[in-house]
Amino acid sequence: MSFEKRYCTTVCCIDGKIVPSVIHFVKEYFQSEYVDVITEAGPAGILSDHPDSVAAEQIYSRVELSLEKHESVGLAMVAHGRCLGNPKKDTVQLDDLRTSRDELKLRFPDTDIILLWVPSDETPVLVD
Ligand SMILES: [Zn+2]
Repeated sequence: MSFEKRYCTTVCCIDGKIVPSVIHFVKEYFQSEYVDVITEAGPAGILSDHPDSVAAEQIYSRVELSLEKHESVGLAMVAHGRCLGNPKKDTVQLDDLRTSRDELKLRFPDTDIILLWVPSDETPVLVD
């Protein structure tokens, strides 16, 4: 089955302050009509600190569902300033983002994965 409208995927914090701007950004970036939004409180902290945990496996299984069943064209891993779920300094959170990408790449090596950081002004920026 092929979807007429393209999906992309994001693993994002539950924080409702950032979700709308993340959806807007990734729809533009991946030229997608729809975004599958997988939320956890501070997901980059989960994937970097506890990559083999039940919480991490639940993220992976939902990513897999989105990638396979919706033929998602890409994945955005997101972190943001003043995160209650991953309350670390910004620089440490950015390291967590990169570690999360490494973990996701192990499981989904063929997927286009981008990293997004959402600072206090709520405008997402790409992270290398
Ligand atoms: Zn958060």
